[in-house]
Amino acid sequence: MIVRARTVVTMDRAPIENGAVAISGNRIIDLGSFDEVKGRNSGEIVDLGDQALLPGLINAHCHLDYTCLRGKIPPQKSFADWIRAINAEKAKLSGADYLSSITEGFAEAKRFGTTTVANLTAFPELISQIHSPIRTWWFAELIDVRSPEQANEIVDLAVESIGKARPEPVLSEVQGGAPNWGLAPHALFTASKNLYRRCEEVARHEDVLLTTHLAESREEMEMFCDGSGPLYDFMKSIGRDVSDCGGMTPLAAFIGIGRALPIEWIVAHLNELTESDFDLLETAKRKFHVVHSPRSHGYFAHSRFLFERLRPLEFNVCLATDSLASNESLSLFAEMRAFQRNEPGLSPDKIFEMVTVNPALALDQSRHGGTMGRIRPGFQADLISIPCGGGTNLFEEIVAFAGPIDWMMVNGRM
Ligand SMILES: [Zn+2]
Repeated sequence: MIVRARTVVTMDRAPIENGAVAISGNRIIDLGSFDEVKGRNSGEIVDLGDQALLPGLINAHCHLDYTCLRGKIPPQKSFADWIRAINAEKAKLSGADYLSSITEGFAEAKRFGTTTVANLTAFPELISQIHSPIRTWWFAELIDVRSPEQANEIVDLAVESIGKARPEPVLSEVQGGAPNWGLAPHALFTASKNLYRRCEEVARHEDVLLTTHLAESREEMEMFCDGSGPLYDFMKSIGRDVSDCGGMTPLAAFIGIGRALPIEWIVAHLNELTESDFDLLETAKRKFHVVHSPRSHGYFAHSRFLFERLRPLEFNVCLATDSLASNESLSLFAEMRAFQRNEPGLSPDKIFEMVTVNPALALDQSRHGGTMGRIRPGFQADLISIPCGGGTNLFEEIVAFAGPIDWMMVNGRM
């Protein structure tokens, strides 16, 4: 099959005017001008007209479990109060509610041009009942705050659930046969060091990915640095051993846990960093992939995300939606615009990389070679198109795009 568009945005070179890609099975096999591609390939021609053909978008961090909580929790006085509020909402939901919430989330993500999602779920046992219409990395979100002595069992049970599900091999297949799942110890304040270590052991053994929430709120910083504050009080009240609190930033505590270099954690947030943290980051042997969720960040009124300081340290920064318990939609286009408002000096093509090339690097990781996030021969045929006015700044138009997508291909299928 040949797909032609007014412009093809490859992410490797300047956009190709009157361009086309050839697709065989689930892979891109050729690209160039329409005439070149037509000359070298045969098959059905799909002409998208005056559209820009783009790589499908990749959401590096979301919780589709909570799609049904959109608009349910107004911003709270404290982060601890927000956790109380979401726990109260979660207590009202059944397994069937979560299933429909996840299904609705997939549909919405797809509508906004997302072809791959890194989805954290607190219910790995539900995965086998879900049909994901887009490429999905499932992360089991793990918490042992009420039973830290069971850290290993909690991890092993989640691994077993995911193993039973083995979701849809066609959509999960990436080059080299890398598994498309991972583990997500929730955060330092809800997951014990033993749980983190067990996850690293499993990740090394099974060659899977790891993600966590880190240094998200001022209260988390206060809890670990000072041994005080609303989050500290809340966690202590539910029985968390707080002897690790006081005297260390969340980042320093996290770096102190790791033994399994060179696992590349996908770290969500990093909003709260001290000068000593930046010293640590400069000398850290481990580089993380960092996920920033601009609109959820705004909802919580977190401290400014220090992109301008992380970027020179060569951290791979991705954009994501996080969950609809703290966001309005699963649109990565809206996320790009929110980020652009905070970082007006950054060029729109660099912002677009943060929902394509960068999250592809986080999910594929260097060990398997890239297969996503670009339009390139050999890559997955995950493509979207948006109307293209033919103005001088194509990437500005892409970031500004606000409508739903009307054409998409996932894994070679329209
Ligand atoms: Zn999250």
